Parts: sequence; C-alpha cells; structure tokens
Amino acid sequence: MDDQRLYIDGAWVEAQDGETFATIDPATGEEIARVARARAGDADRAIAAARRAFDEGRWSAVPPRERAALLRRIAHRLHTEADELARLESRDAGKLLADAREDVEEAAEMFDHYAGLATSEGGEVPPPGPDAMSLVVPEPVGVAALITPWNFPLLMAAQKVAPALAAGCTAILKPAEQTPLSALELARIAAEEGLPDGVLNVLTGFGPEAGAPLVEDPRVDAVSFTGSEAVGRVIGRVAAETFKRTTLELGGKSPNLVFADADFEAAIEGSALGVFFHQGQVCSAGSRVLVEQTIYDTAVEALCAQAAELRLGHPADPETTMGPLISAEHRAKVNSYLEHGRADGARLAHMGTVPTDPKLANGFFFPPVIFADVDNTMRIAREEIFGPVMAVIPFGDEDEAIAIANDTPYGLAAAVWTTDVKRAVRVSRAIRAGVVWVNDSQPAPVEAPWGGFKASGVGRELGRYGLRAFQELKQIYLNLE
Ligand code: ADP
Ligand code: MG
Repeated sequence: MDDQRLYIDGAWVEAQDGETFATIDPATGEEIARVARARAGDADRAIAAARRAFDEGRWSAVPPRERAALLRRIAHRLHTEADELARLESRDAGKLLADAREDVEEAAEMFDHYAGLATSEGGEVPPPGPDAMSLVVPEPVGVAALITPWNFPLLMAAQKVAPALAAGCTAILKPAEQTPLSALELARIAAEEGLPDGVLNVLTGFGPEAGAPLVEDPRVDAVSFTGSEAVGRVIGRVAAETFKRTTLELGGKSPNLVFADADFEAAIEGSALGVFFHQGQVCSAGSRVLVEQTIYDTAVEALCAQAAELRLGHPADPETTMGPLISAEHRAKVNSYLEHGRADGARLAHMGTVPTDPKLANGFFFPPVIFADVDNTMRIAREEIFGPVMAVIPFGDEDEAIAIANDTPYGLAAAVWTTDVKRAVRVSRAIRAGVVWVNDSQPAPVEAPWGGFKASGVGRELGRYGLRAFQELKQIYLNLE
C-alpha cells in the first residue's frame, strides 16, 4: 500500500518533517503501510485550516438540508465501498472481517441518522411572558477535535464526525496510531462528495504528538475523546484550561448479572459474547459475570464450554470467531492479568489455545480465559483488562448482586439476565451505569444515548444527545414591549 498522507485543508500532505510510522496487521505482525507522523506543527496547520473554514462559514452557513444531503451521500458511499473498507479495517485492526463489515454498515447508519437530525433538531421557544419572547437557537460549537481509539476505528470516527458535521462544526480527526487507515478513507470519501476544504482534517500520528496539541489549543472549541481512562483524565484536565466542551468515553468493568430465573442458554451465550466479542477489546465488555449461587456451578461449566467453541484464527477466515489483540504491547498487558488472577486466588476455569498456523506465528493472539470464584476485590475484577478475560463472581441474592455490580469505579454498561420483568426494571434502575441491557449484551442503537457514569466518562454520544455535544445553545431574547 502507498504511503499515507495527512489530510489538511483539502490537500493530502506529508508531515512537515517528512516522518512516517508503520501501521501493522495484528494477525501477522506485517507492516501494511507507512503513515505520516503528525506533530505539533502539523496540528497547528490543521487547526488553522479548521478554524478558518469555520470562521468563514464554509460549512456552518450551508443550509442544514444541504449538509444533510452531503451526509447521506457519505453514507451511500460507505455502503457502496463496504467490502473494500471492511477488508482494510479488518487488516488494520485485526477485526473479524464479518464484524468489520458490520462496523462499516453502522458507520453508514451514523451518517444517515445525523443527516436526519441535521434537518429535524431545531431549537425551542420558551414563553417568558406576554411582552417578551426567547428563541433558543442551537449553533455549532466551532472547531472540534475528535480523538478515536483502535478497537472500532471507522465506527468511532463516524460516531464523532457525523454529528460534528451535522451540527455545522469543522473538525480535526485524530485516529489511533494503531489503526489510522479507515479515517483517511472517510476523509477521501467526504472530499469526493464535496465537503468544503478545511471542514474535516485528518491527523495521523501518536497521541502525545498529534493529539495533545489539539487538546491544548485555544482555537479548538470542543474535544470528543474515546479511549483509556488514563488519557481521558489528562484530556479532561487539559481541555478544561481553555474551557472546551468535552465528551469523554472511557473504560469500564461492566457487570453482567445472571439470575437463576434467566433463560439459561441465552444468558450463557450472551455473557460469553459480552466479554469475548472482538477479543474483549470493547469499552462496554461485560468482563464481570455475576452468577446467582444456585446455578453457579452449572453456569461456570456452560461458560467454559461456550469459550471452548471459540476458534482463533485469521480475521478474514470465515471459520474464525476470534482474532488477535491489537499489538504485542497490549497482549503483554492482558497477559499480566493471568498472573494477577492466580496470585489473587481466582480459579483458572478455562484457557483456550492460540492458532498454530505458521503464517500467524507473529500475530498478537491471546486465548480466551475464564477465571471463576473471583472476589470483586481482586485486580481482575477491578481493572479494565481490555482482553478476552472473564471474571465469574457468585452472588447470593438480588441485593448482593446490585452491591457487587456497583462496587466499581466505572459505570459504562451492565447486562441483566432474568425473566422476571419487575426484577429486570428494579435491577436496571439500581445499577449506576449509562447503559443497561436486559436479556442482551452490547447492542448500541444509533438513536439512543451512549456514555458512562463515574470514571467511565463525561457526556453522551449517539442520537440527539450526541448532536448536542457539538452545539452551543444561544438564547435570543426579544423585547416585545
Ligand atoms: P489505548 O490505551 O487503548 O491505546 P489511548 O487512550 O491511549 O487508548 O488512545 C486513544 C486515543 O487517544 C488514540 O488516538 C491516542 O493516540 C490518543 N491519545 C493518547 N494520548 C493522548 C494525549 N496525551 N493527548 C491526546 N490524545 C492522546
Ligand atoms: Mg494497524
């Protein structure tokens, strides 16, 4: 693949100092492409371009109807090019090809959805009294920095770019250094569909070099970040210096509660998917599986049987149900939790095997792991592992289940498996998390809010809530006397 450039002000440019870095195929360890390595000077150019585009009204002055039409064309192109995009994404991120295909479709949905909101979400006219009138007018917040992670590269880019553009903002997208390729494709498509120069810029590079300058710069009005808690804490603090509107979508240690009255098979299957989907590299992974004591032994056995069916292999192989982790570094981190689990006294109930195919010998594969008899105080129950490591924790009754579920610094998601409707609602309401699934795990419909309580983040994405993150509300007060 050709060397990839930065996209700034409608032009494909090298980094100022000409430096590049490699993006790797996690299944083979091979280099896919060399990508421009942006630093502060490049960030400065991108910010200046986005600022100018915004201040000149190159996009915000375009009628919402036309903005929506362009977003729909991007959605259409994502559909049309879904095969190639999915192959690229699968290769860059080590995602199962089928999952990458779904991501592309969801990314397209994102643009369709926000095209609709661009023309339907207006302001309000609250009635202060007979002699006055207030108009509440949503306006674009300005220049937005969009910093995305490597687990759902295109989807996370779409989740931020679509509402930012729908709102009339200009943006600088900084994809994760591990997976920069699909963001560049998105910019290419947007440009080909006629997005004006400077409205969407893409800076590839490393967080501290290409991302940090965006967060520090006073010309940037908003930051939307999805990534680790550690980086999110820094971004939140730095962004506050210049009073940026900030959305942070961070980590989790989401509880998955299995009650004895649940549809057992569905609960086991859903619980396994909840933590093994995309190798557990999902912020909302249900990594703590809480199981009611009366079905505990059977459930652990069934979960292990479920895990034993996973087939690790090349992400493009249709037989594969589990791909590699993103990097050697990340695998080492995930692996360290095997030791923590053992040292803390959890029981290793299942450990799968990695592929033996010599072509995959340099891939970053890691087997699915189930620890049983976990106590919620153990590190494997408290810290986000971001890998295929399940911690199974027994509970006695509903109150205890809720207490364990909430005993975590995080609050992104939770799943509740039960056939008792009242219990489902009771438990859902008692859990301190932004998303609670009842008899399911992991769906994230584009229309509904997504985001965390507590250390899982600040703000909400998706639906009209995600649009609001890119808007300022202005009140225009009319004296009618
Ligand atoms: P992970 O640990 O899963 O790789 P990170 O939180 O490190 O997740 O990365 C998520 C995104 O944040 C990536 O695009 C990364 O380059 C970016 N990033 C990392 N550090 C910083 C930083 N100090 N400032 C801005 N962005 C950063
Ligand atoms: Mg890669």
